[in-house]
Formats: sequence, C-alpha cells, structure tokens
Amino acid sequence: MLSESLDQLRAAIRDVPDFPQPGILFKDITPVLADARLINLAIDGMIENFIDQKVDKVVGIDARGFIFGAMMAQRLGAGFVPVRKKGKLPWKTRGVDYSLEYGTNSVEMHLDALASGERVILADDLLATGGTAGAAVKLIEETGATLLGSVFFIELAFLDGRQKLSRSGPIHSLLTF
Ligand code: AMP
Repeated sequence: MLSESLDQLRAAIRDVPDFPQPGILFKDITPVLADARLINLAIDGMIENFIDQKVDKVVGIDARGFIFGAMMAQRLGAGFVPVRKKGKLPWKTRGVDYSLEYGTNSVEMHLDALASGERVILADDLLATGGTAGAAVKLIEETGATLLGSVFFIELAFLDGRQKLSRSGPIHSLLTF
C-alpha cells in the first residue's frame, strides 16, 4: 500500500486520552469510517495479503471488528462470522475467557459457524495486548478450520500483542503505533 495512503489513514485516527478509563489512549477510528475514500483505502490494505488465498470466512471480533471484517468478507467473496461478547449469540456457542488492556472479558462463537478445513482469516480494528484476538484464535482452532492469518487496522506495538498470536499464522497490521 502507498505510504501516502497510510499517512492519510494515520492522520484521520483520533486519539482520545483516558477513555474508557484513566491511562488508556483510545484510538478512535470513527473518522476513518465516516470518510468513504478512507474506509475504502483501509479495506484495500486489510485484504491485500489475502486476495488470492481463497478465503471461505472472515471472523470479525465484537464490535468494531464486525465493521472491518464484514467489509473485508464482501470484497473477498467470503462469508462473515461474528465472535461476540458473552451472552449475545442466540444459538449454541463455545466460549473463551481472556483479559484485555482494560478489564476482563469472555467471547463466544456459534458451534456451527465454521466447518473443519474451511479457510479463515481473523479481523479486528486494533491489536492491543492480544488477549481478545488470542481468544478468537482459540475458538477458530477448536473448530478444525484453517487459520490463514490475522489482520488488524491498528497495532499498538508497545503492548506486544503479537507474541500471544505467534503460533497462529501471519499477522498483518496496516498502521503501527
Ligand atoms: P486486546 O485484547 O488487549 O488486544 O484489546 C483489543 C480490543 O480492545 C480490540 O477489540 C479493540 O477494539 C479494543 N482496544 C484495546 N485498546 C484499545 C485502544 N487503546 N484504543 C481503541 N481500542 C482499543
């Protein structure tokens, strides 16, 4: 992706100090979503490494991962699977508990969301400590699906979330802070 495009995306991200709690610098991506040209650029960059990989499903993480993941799925001609916070999915689920940059959480996926051997990528807006993505990877791997890799719009490299995903295929992030 052109460095000029990456610079434009980077400039559009709004830093919000002390949200949702003191000490967290929240990366607000809504200005990117609100700009038709920028959101297209972001999705271009996020699918780049997977275009020729015959992706069956994109798994997106609650909630901003749904936005990026669903758009990626549509571009790749793939289906979309939500990983949701506990208690939100209506059908039979499996769940994993994890800790995140602020607090603890638990995510779930429908039992029949992925079939063994399906070619899958994981998508979220931001990789921080890697707890959330690590939990989603576990859910994917338990189904017997093939995880082709993970993609994030933003990576907070200083939190070293990559390390938690190190055994789960390539990790791509568009913007690193
Ligand atoms: P983690 O599990 O620590 O990698 O946290 C990743 C999840 O929390 C992602 O779904 C993000 O949307 C959200 N998140 C964590 N830290 C931030 C941050 N500084 N700015 C925006 N979102 C964040």
